[in-house]
Amino acid sequence: MEIKRRKYRWDRIAGAGLTLLTALILFVAWIAPASVQSADGLVHPGTEVINESNELATKDSAQFHARPKEEEILPCSCNKKVLNLPKNPYTAHRQAARNLPSSFYVKDKSEMKSGKRRGKLVAVTDGRGYHIAPLSHSHAVLLPEVASLLEDMGQAFADQLEGTLSEGTTFRVTSLTRTAQQQAQLGRQNYNAITDASTHSYGASFDIAYTDRLSNEADCSSPTRAIQRVLRTFQESGRILVIPERNCMHITLRP
Ligand SMILES: [Zn+2]
Repeated sequence: MEIKRRKYRWDRIAGAGLTLLTALILFVAWIAPASVQSADGLVHPGTEVINESNELATKDSAQFHARPKEEEILPCSCNKKVLNLPKNPYTAHRQAARNLPSSFYVKDKSEMKSGKRRGKLVAVTDGRGYHIAPLSHSHAVLLPEVASLLEDMGQAFADQLEGTLSEGTTFRVTSLTRTAQQQAQLGRQNYNAITDASTHSYGASFDIAYTDRLSNEADCSSPTRAIQRVLRTFQESGRILVIPERNCMHITLRP
């Protein structure tokens, strides 16, 4: 009897243990996906999630960063994919650059400095409707008449957006005067080959690559339409030549 009772107890203990184990497994299985789900939904992207895949981080970093940090505002592109403008051939740009009254070939830094001293190149800073991006391969100087052109285009752009949700948006100037040395560093030109010199090496050209909004609430359509209209108007009136490029709009003043 005692042996039988003891056997019966062991069965019950084993049974209870098994039930407990099963319950535990089920509980873990139930809670694990739930916690992953909540981590996906609540974790701030740009931290652990983004490190799981570099490809994802690179591809979507703008989106990931924009969501948690709402103050980061995405720019609107100004290139040949989004703007519709006829292309003026580069030969025309080069001819224009050389024929501007005060233009000269800015071969190197000392040429640029002497140009500034003589007032043939003027320093360019942010103005109404435009701003200058941090520059790595050019200097924020232009021929005086090209600096005036930039100011006028900035005014025209700001006027277009005045009183709209996009008021205060500025276009971003990403390249101005490049010495022939800097141009050569970009791999686009032989340092001494003046025949195929860039119009940037005459202080005659600048590039616009983006418009920068004040908030993500104002969408890109208004600033994109505005910059398109400004460029088109200046081009049609014969004041500028334009080359829509892959990353920007290349603009040269006409004499
Ligand atoms: Zn350019």
